[in-house]
Amino acid sequence: MRTHAVAIVGSGPSGFYAAGALLDSTDPPVRVDMYDRLATPWGLVRAGVAPDHPKIKSVSGQYEKIAAQPGFRFFGHVCLGEDVTTEELLERYDAVVYAVGSQTERRLGIEGEDRAGSHASVDFVGWYNGHPDYVGLAPDLGAERAVVIGAGNVALDVARMLLLPEDDLRPTDTADHAIEALAGSSVREVVVCGRRGPVQAAFTTTELRELDDIDGLGIVVDPAQFPDAAGDEDLPKATRRNVESFRRWAEAGPAEGAERRLEFRFLRSPVQILGEDADGPVTGVELAVNRLETDDDGRVRPVDTGERETVECGLVLRAVGYRGVALPGVPFDEGSGTIPHTEGRIEGREREYVVGWIKRGPTGIIGTNRKDANETVRALLADLTSGQREDAVIASAEEVEEWLSERVPDLVDLDGWEAIDAHERAAGEGGGRPRVKVVDRGDFMSLVRERM
Ligand code: NAP
Repeated sequence: MRTHAVAIVGSGPSGFYAAGALLDSTDPPVRVDMYDRLATPWGLVRAGVAPDHPKIKSVSGQYEKIAAQPGFRFFGHVCLGEDVTTEELLERYDAVVYAVGSQTERRLGIEGEDRAGSHASVDFVGWYNGHPDYVGLAPDLGAERAVVIGAGNVALDVARMLLLPEDDLRPTDTADHAIEALAGSSVREVVVCGRRGPVQAAFTTTELRELDDIDGLGIVVDPAQFPDAAGDEDLPKATRRNVESFRRWAEAGPAEGAERRLEFRFLRSPVQILGEDADGPVTGVELAVNRLETDDDGRVRPVDTGERETVECGLVLRAVGYRGVALPGVPFDEGSGTIPHTEGRIEGREREYVVGWIKRGPTGIIGTNRKDANETVRALLADLTSGQREDAVIASAEEVEEWLSERVPDLVDLDGWEAIDAHERAAGEGGGRPRVKVVDRGDFMSLVRERM
């Protein structure tokens, strides 16, 4: 049986799990070309996971093993829709898998959302992680108080990054520009606002509990925001543990002399981001005070009581979830921000598949993508073995490389990425850091060309 060829567009966790499952196939044998618009692979593992979570980032070791397998190639700096089209990929491969994630923010749709000093977490996270698109963000960290909207793990990540002591920040792979800015930051208090209660918050227990380990951090929770402890035993285990942490913090109050404070304010929805004039920078957030109501289907939803309060601040980070972006020429459901599919087969298309957040929406942890990718690869391999592709003529590996080299002057192949990776790791050694990130396209290309 001939070796089939699959293009994977996107090199984050879901793309790598799909690549691993495809390369495991012997019937038919499959080779994989993975494309990314950046010079560097690993998607959110490099540019999303918080730098003070090196253990989570170490999952990249699995992706390195996949990349080292025969039949795998990486092509960085190739943007679908700009450098190559889906049609061109379909001419050259048996199948194309989209693994592009959710690349933008969910909008709040409130007045003042785009004021200076109000940032989507997508941008702020990209900034501290050295994502080339966001290195110019330069958030103003000159005010003492910041407000984070949203009660999920990304809200916790950005709150922690604002409050970590400098000594905890320096040994990480946080981009150098962000380390310098955060080390000089005036932010001493972060207020995390959840529109529903502590029971409905989307934080995971490990992420919540690790706040106890941050030196000099006082955690503030108003005991009045809690349901009666009497019902706690009926809650799912993870929720019960979270509520236990909130209760403990509420009872203890912030530690005496805490240098920095993190406040959880529940039952609050932002209604307006305030500034001195129409275009002026952020001066605060107006919050609606909510009560909770349970729908007929059991979902607990926030209901505005009409009461308002204002929190003064100089920085707002909106962490209310991510959203997928349509790919040129690929079906897209505007409502969910995902590509419509059945078991990973894109609706109305042949030989096009989808994995990860752009398939199921921005939920779950990194490992969730393995099962997700396996489902799609099962469908893809079943289609390949159905006989329709046996006599199909596709481009050889060499022809693809030739085509890309002509098309993309700044092409980065696997050797090129390995040169960047080796340089970054070596640069980190002196400071006890996992790596010092390169963030500029010109610098990436100097490293790639030096190696040639
Ligand atoms: P998320 O878990 O979906 O949380 C989004 C939060 O925003 C929820 O609290 C949601 O409240 C709130 N929200 C949504 N719309 C809102 C609005 N209009 N006004 C006010 N609040 C609003 O999303 P995420 O934090 O972006 O995380 C994405 C995924 O990545 C999650 O699965 C997360 O667990 C994962 N992740 C994991 C880690 C880790 O394991 N360390 C780190 C980061 C991210 P409602 O519940 O009321 O909708």
